[in-house]
Amino acid sequence: MSELLAGAHMSIAGGVHRAFKRGQLAGCRTIQIFLKNSNQWKAKTLTDLDSALFKDAQKQSGIQPVVAHDSYLINLASPDKSLWHKSLEAFIGEMKRANFLGIPYLVMHPGAHVGTGIEVGIKRISEALKSALETVEPPVSVLLENTAGQGSSIGHCFEHLAAIMEKIPYPDRVGVCLDTCHVFAAGYDIRTEEGYKSTMRNFDCLVGIKKIRAFHVNDSKKELGSHVDRHAHIGQGCIGLEAFRCLVNDRRFAKVPKILETPKGPELEEDIMNLATLKSLLVKRAADER
Ligand code: MN
Ligand code: MN
Ligand code: ZN
Repeated sequence: MSELLAGAHMSIAGGVHRAFKRGQLAGCRTIQIFLKNSNQWKAKTLTDLDSALFKDAQKQSGIQPVVAHDSYLINLASPDKSLWHKSLEAFIGEMKRANFLGIPYLVMHPGAHVGTGIEVGIKRISEALKSALETVEPPVSVLLENTAGQGSSIGHCFEHLAAIMEKIPYPDRVGVCLDTCHVFAAGYDIRTEEGYKSTMRNFDCLVGIKKIRAFHVNDSKKELGSHVDRHAHIGQGCIGLEAFRCLVNDRRFAKVPKILETPKGPELEEDIMNLATLKSLLVKRAADER
């Protein structure tokens, strides 16, 4: 296995445990999955058999950790009371599913304020997360994903993430999943080593580098500051290879899972290609340096 803790988002079609075979096929050391159909509110209840098959398949694959991503319908910043409650209920359901499968992280999009303003949106998000964390017991923790800043979505500025986290009294159970495409589309220029370093310094000051528990490793089809979320293959978008070279060689993140969410077909050749690109960027180190 590669020394790079990298993988890709995998389909759960046919059962949650099926994601591991797909991950193995693509050479993943880590994977991300949805816990249910990401475009529907409804979810089939996971059975003890689902959980047993999942844990068994994970053990056999050696894939670790698994990261879960929440449904796209959930909006914990919604000004619509009934949608906010529906979202909170669904989010709690996803946290419980993660615990049931032994998945340590649930990545979530903070939400969209729909014209009501970032500040109240942030208040609603932290209120929802506080309530969810009080309802669902550990070990599952929540990872806020930074966003590209499309529409009224919150989380494209590192300050937003810091403000949300500040209002939640359970710091050990809230981290960040940093998406490279979103970072760039939001206006942080990571294309050079200098830009990468200053962006990370900025993040460290505002949120704390240790809060990063996962990366979404995507190049961007759209330009710097476009606020448009379109993922490209590694090195084939507007970000380019240098940012990814910096990331995979950043020893602070050696144990942080790096997950592709790049376009792909059923044969997963694109994942194989992108993982090979990432590995090719690794600078070989002497064993005693590690
Ligand atoms: Mn996402
Ligand atoms: Mn992402
Ligand atoms: Zn995206």
